[in-house]
Amino acid sequence: MKLTDLSTIREIMSRHGVSFQKKFGQNFLISPQVPVNIAEAAVETLNSCAAPGKRGILEIGPGIGTLTRELSSRADKVVAVEVDSALIPILDETLADCPNTRVINQDILKTDLAALIESEFLSEGYSVAVAANLPYYITTPILMALVESRLPFESITVMIQKEVAARLAAHAGDADYGSVTASLAYYGSVERLFNVPAGCFVPAPKVDSTVIRINLYKTPPVSVRDEQTLFRVIRGAFAQRRKTLANSLRTEFPKELIPGALEAAGLPADIRGERLSLEDFARLADALSQ
Ligand code: SAM
Repeated sequence: MKLTDLSTIREIMSRHGVSFQKKFGQNFLISPQVPVNIAEAAVETLNSCAAPGKRGILEIGPGIGTLTRELSSRADKVVAVEVDSALIPILDETLADCPNTRVINQDILKTDLAALIESEFLSEGYSVAVAANLPYYITTPILMALVESRLPFESITVMIQKEVAARLAAHAGDADYGSVTASLAYYGSVERLFNVPAGCFVPAPKVDSTVIRINLYKTPPVSVRDEQTLFRVIRGAFAQRRKTLANSLRTEFPKELIPGALEAAGLPADIRGERLSLEDFARLADALSQ
């Protein structure tokens, strides 16, 4: 069964009485090479990690199982979390010959990630990476939940909207640089792997996609007195993008603290938030948490 064939997808979905659910961001892959490339990029990080052993993959949103099958043939175990219960009977069929793969019918944002990863992977000695063709409507919440969980993922390889990928991979001073970019930089480095045109999906979305890989740090690249203050500084810096950093930070900190903190961090009084690197944010956070 070739799950990237349009006729196969239509046949299997109509036989199960299932239609595409826009509300779940369902755009299924119809390009055979793309799921292969995503699976290889994800599993590669498990082969080359410090302690290679049993390779585990957490997939988010398996759909009808197209990427899941490629993951299943390259990893030792795959756990796929799918919110749409209508797809579960299809996955039972398309993954029937993948005994190393388990599907869980849950919303990933309501899943106890720590408990899932511990019971399915860590307790059994697996190293683990994440792979997904993410639903566009919740890309950022899913990525932030994954990194903020502090679980020992080797990497997170995901297909996301091209514009969002540009934002996540931006550097200080780029037009696309924002609070998610700076926050994510605390947890890992973002690699843009390849672009995927809208025509590689059914139904075709209105936008193109990019596959990115987030290589997670074992320890953060900057050390701060208080992480929550760092994230408040980043949030405050971008709260009012048209204003200077000093003015925008007033959304998060008392205004009388700001000039002294900027000076202590070695930053000009009139600098704008988008010019600050993670190191700058870290110095400023330490000055503000004194
Ligand atoms: N992996 C398939 C592929 O590449 O063809 C489908 C990808 S489709 C873009 C996104 C998938 O995520 C859909 O199957 C959708 O039902 C599922 N999904 C959407 N929201 C979800 C959530 N909160 N938790 C888990 N899965 C979700």
